[in-house]
Amino acid sequence: MTRTEPLLKLKPGKEKSLRRRHPWVYAMAIDRVIGHPASGDIVRVVGADGSFLAWAAFSPTSMIRARAWSFLEHEQVDAALITARVAAAVARRQSLSTETTAVRLVFGEADALPGLVVDRYGDQLVVQCQSAGIEPWREVIIEALTAATGCRAIYERSDAAAREREGLAPSEGPLRGGEPTPVLVTEEGVRYRVDVVTGHKTGFYIDQRDNRSLVRANAAGRRVLNCFCYTGGFTLAARQGGAIEATSVDSSAEALAMAADHEKLNGFETSSTWLQANVFDTLKAMLAEGRQFDLIVLDPPKFAPSAHHIDRAARAYKEINLKALRLLAPGGLLFTFSCSGAVSLDLFQKIIAGAVFDAGVDAQMLKRLAAGVDHPMLMTHPEGEYLKGLMLRRM
Ligand code: SAH
Repeated sequence: MTRTEPLLKLKPGKEKSLRRRHPWVYAMAIDRVIGHPASGDIVRVVGADGSFLAWAAFSPTSMIRARAWSFLEHEQVDAALITARVAAAVARRQSLSTETTAVRLVFGEADALPGLVVDRYGDQLVVQCQSAGIEPWREVIIEALTAATGCRAIYERSDAAAREREGLAPSEGPLRGGEPTPVLVTEEGVRYRVDVVTGHKTGFYIDQRDNRSLVRANAAGRRVLNCFCYTGGFTLAARQGGAIEATSVDSSAEALAMAADHEKLNGFETSSTWLQANVFDTLKAMLAEGRQFDLIVLDPPKFAPSAHHIDRAARAYKEINLKALRLLAPGGLLFTFSCSGAVSLDLFQKIIAGAVFDAGVDAQMLKRLAAGVDHPMLMTHPEGEYLKGLMLRRM
């Protein structure tokens, strides 16, 4: 070592996860901080015996006290490394650009850029900077994104709660190219208008692309019910796939207005039914009315924001799935999702099995579902997986 650098020394036995290339260092694993690293500074992380484990970004108040940039002692964490990682992440998504103009270009830890998310909608990029480690590299990242994509419009939509956990002030607004206007994107021939300023997440549920495609492929001739429809993603896909009728439910009037606008934008001749209501009440009412559907989508918001909420979330998932299963005609399909990171696929499958049993029906599982390939999970970082789903057929 030629210079004195800040050091994080771990407690005995706490080096195991870094040795397995898990990128997070929890505060409770740290024995001592040597030197005075500031937020976002690069620190050398060593085991209790002093051996090198990783170069990491320090986050002085977060539970995740540091996120690894590199597990190689000889690797320099500098602008060239960050630029190369951004370029590699963009290059990995190249093949998707023929199917759609809405793509996640960078997905945090899975792309070796912990805390950074970048979505592309046409020529508009939206970035989320959600870790202390990303902050010092903002300009480098913006330059790298411009070089890799050619996009000149970049808007920041960082999640305030995620930044707060990292001790960072909220940050939102144009980084390049001024105030954005809604962007038209195309996905397998369906057009959607995305408002990157006010829309959910960065504007659209890009992660459901493959599942929209699956719904489209199975929608022909079916009566569709789309619950928690937001701006109508699954509904539009089902109509494109030949659904004979579609009813969509959401509690948000703004989301429904955009959904109805999407329908016009795509020139579908007959209009769908858009219901502004609470899905829990609607399912109950539909059962009482003896309604039946041939394809139901349940894509609710995150019912379990953390592990503390699992029990309540499990009851909510079970309730909506039980009712949806009863509303399905024999041979009908259910596409059911959970985007709660705290609910594993295994647990979700058990909850749905319970719903099938309590509904008094038989059902087959046809497929397990996940986010699209532009939302990969790093094999050493299972926390990165959040969206899971099942495709069932009522017998
Ligand atoms: N399926 C959507 C994304 C769903 S996001 C897509 O593919 O684009 C969750 C949606 O559920 C939000 O639009 C929110 O307004 C709505 N929502 C949340 N709780 C609800 C409830 N109890 N009843 C109806 N809608 C609800």
